[in-house]
Amino acid sequence: EYLKDGKPHKVTTFPYNNNFDIFFGAADTLWFLSSQGIYIVDADDVLNDTVETYIHFDGTNGLASVPISHSYSSVCDGDLYVAGQSGATMVSIDNFKDYSGTTVIGLESITYEGEEILPDITGTYVFPRGDGRVQIKPAILDYTITNPTVRMFLEGVDDEGVTATQDRMTALEYTRLEYGEYTLHIQLLDSRTRQIISEKTYPVFKTPGFFERTFVRIMIVVLMLGAIGLIVWRVMNGTVIRKQYRQIQEARDEAENANAAKSRFLANMSHEIRTPINTIIGMDEMILRENAENVPHAYSTSVTGYARDIKYASESLLTLINDLLDISKIESGKMHVIEQEYDTTDLVRGVATMIRGRAEAKKLYFDVDIDENIPKRLYGDSGKIKQIILNLLTNAVKYTAEGGFRLSIRMTDKTGTSVGMLISVKDTGIGIRQDDLEKLFTAYERLDEVKNSNIQGTGLGLDISRQFAQLMNGRLWCESNYGEGSEFLLEIRQKIVDDTPLGVFHEETAEPAEKGYKPQFIAPDADILVVDDNPMNLNVIRGLLKPTKVFVTTAGSGEECLEKIAENEFNVVLLDHMMPGMDGIETVERIRKDHPNLPVYALTANSTAGGEEFYKSKGFDGYLTKPVDIVAVEHAIMRQLPESIISKPTDDDTYFEEETLGDDMRWLEDEEGISAEDGIRNSGGVSQYIFALNMFYDSIDDNASVIEQAYADGDIKLATVKVHALKSNLRIIGAAGLSAECQALEDAGNGKDMAYIEAHRDEVLAKYRNFKEILAPLKAEKKENRGTAEISQEELGDAYAALKDCIGQMDFDAVETILEGLKDYRLSDEDAELTAELEKALRLFDWDRMEGLLSGK
Ligand code: ADP
Repeated sequence: EYLKDGKPHKVTTFPYNNNFDIFFGAADTLWFLSSQGIYIVDADDVLNDTVETYIHFDGTNGLASVPISHSYSSVCDGDLYVAGQSGATMVSIDNFKDYSGTTVIGLESITYEGEEILPDITGTYVFPRGDGRVQIKPAILDYTITNPTVRMFLEGVDDEGVTATQDRMTALEYTRLEYGEYTLHIQLLDSRTRQIISEKTYPVFKTPGFFERTFVRIMIVVLMLGAIGLIVWRVMNGTVIRKQYRQIQEARDEAENANAAKSRFLANMSHEIRTPINTIIGMDEMILRENAENVPHAYSTSVTGYARDIKYASESLLTLINDLLDISKIESGKMHVIEQEYDTTDLVRGVATMIRGRAEAKKLYFDVDIDENIPKRLYGDSGKIKQIILNLLTNAVKYTAEGGFRLSIRMTDKTGTSVGMLISVKDTGIGIRQDDLEKLFTAYERLDEVKNSNIQGTGLGLDISRQFAQLMNGRLWCESNYGEGSEFLLEIRQKIVDDTPLGVFHEETAEPAEKGYKPQFIAPDADILVVDDNPMNLNVIRGLLKPTKVFVTTAGSGEECLEKIAENEFNVVLLDHMMPGMDGIETVERIRKDHPNLPVYALTANSTAGGEEFYKSKGFDGYLTKPVDIVAVEHAIMRQLPESIISKPTDDDTYFEEETLGDDMRWLEDEEGISAEDGIRNSGGVSQYIFALNMFYDSIDDNASVIEQAYADGDIKLATVKVHALKSNLRIIGAAGLSAECQALEDAGNGKDMAYIEAHRDEVLAKYRNFKEILAPLKAEKKENRGTAEISQEELGDAYAALKDCIGQMDFDAVETILEGLKDYRLSDEDAELTAELEKALRLFDWDRMEGLLSGK
């Protein structure tokens, strides 16, 4: 506090309270001695009570001895003498100068491995690369007794640096300083508060070593990452990836194998299924062809109805199986293009006629429009093209309810060797949605399943068709307006064989199709025994069975039949009922003793005699009527043959027999009492007929005498048996009139009607003998027709040897062929006679005689 104008004023801003003395120094300063040391304050600041800055000395900054109270400090000649705890301090109070802020700090030296480093042009101290020792020494210039505190550290290094008073200051040292930029700090600190009084900084840079350079490091990192990647890759590749890859491969192989097995299975199954279906269709066909003459009408119609159902069902089953077979063949890569020459018109005609009926049944129009300039004969896979067109046409019929459809074939271009064609099937049917156009060609895919549920189909047809088209390097696609109709287009190229334009297309063939007889089966390995006392009947059956290619052995009696059965194995025996000596009934009884399961059918002219029941009870498997109905005979034989030896006849198996007599036999047409037409039909062809005529002719004399004699002897039974045989022989040669008369005579014989017999037998016999006259030209012609070609003795010898061989095997056809062949040659009278005799014996199936005739040769 101080007094001014008699009033005390309090100084509140003075920093300390326990003050002892106040002295006035130069420059209006006030010196306060206190227990904390000396405060030097501006006098005005005290009077104004605004003390903010002052100088303070104590033991830490130069005051050697701290003042004590109640002492005798005083000023004398401008010097202040301060009494202190540990002695007196003298301060020149008038000349006082504050040096406390004048300590200078700086850098004395920086050395690297003892070598001094000087700053570069930017003032930066650059250390060389390497791990050498760095030594940094500060410079502290202070001329007071304050011994200031200094801190020195390197910013960027994780360390405190050194902090010490001037007298204790040491150098800052580093070894292994990392490369990089640092800042060296040298700070002067307040000894008490450690506040920074002044500071100097110096930039420092440690040159990086090769491996410390950034790009090198980046490279190292990249290389390491690469190396790690490589290792990881190798490990993965070696283990994980390879394992997975192997698993995938295994799975794929497995799937492929399974798929291939499936396709193989499907292909095999389809094939296996096809065989029995074909049998079903074949058998069913027989039911449909069965002669219903003697069957109650209601029964036969219902059976035929069922048979028709079987036919439709098995045919659609067959189509399905065929489709499956195709698909599986395509999938397993086994479907190949099979190219051959074909007739373009025939191909179109084939498909058109197959569809025509179905179109008519649905009252749809079916137009066929074929480009007239398309070459007549082409080369390619006509089978597949046909299948595609057929499938498109079938779909057109199926999916069209009103209107109709059109098949058109246009030629798009033609080169010297090939022709491009666009085949289109366009209908007015239900059409196909735009979105569905591609689905069409996917296997098993059907559109509008609900709407089309009543239309049969599998969804395979178009898939197969497209795959076929692609196989043939063609293209199949569809264009459609839903609800209005669809057009399916097939683009295909075929090689040209005959460039002649096919001209106007006609669906029907101009020339009538060749007829011919197609048997119901073919079985070249089947052995059939036919037993009949009448050689003409044997001949007829043998002839009728010719188209089936079965091997026919004949026997003329029950005894011979038993002999043959003992020696050979037959598939079927056809056994005549009525035979002189051992008849059919007795023979079958004997057969049954050793061969309970051998199929034996009775041949009988008496269709009324008990029928099936009767013959079955006698040990037959069934009976067949005479005159022989070849379809029934084929049917019976087929039923008994093992499936493995039966095959379905192809068109090539159609048996063409000349239907009219050759010019040399025309005379027969003018003869009365005999119809060549009937004869040809009954004996199974022209050659058979001529054979039968000869046989008939040859037996007239003997046979007529036997009958005459029997009647004369009153042996009506024998006479009737003979008349019975004559009746059928007459029928065979087409002499229906006299055959009917014989029938009446036979009936009379059976009914012991002697009066009728007496009245008619001579007339019948006379007419019978008259056939010698009628048929005389047969023999006359023969002689004239002798061949003219030369034959050497050696060749003739060979022919006889071959004949002996074939006779030994009872191979009728072979013997017949050889004898026919010999007719072309000019033979000596003796040889001509021999061959004629052989022929005669052959007609009578007299193998023993033939053997005898040839025994000397
Ligand atoms: P599917 O006729 O046996 O079912 P496709 O493969 O021949 O099998 O045909 C597949 C589908 O395409 C048929 O189910 C039918 O929905 C459709 N389709 C085929 N042809 C025609 C057509 N002419 N008109 C309309 N839809 C058709």
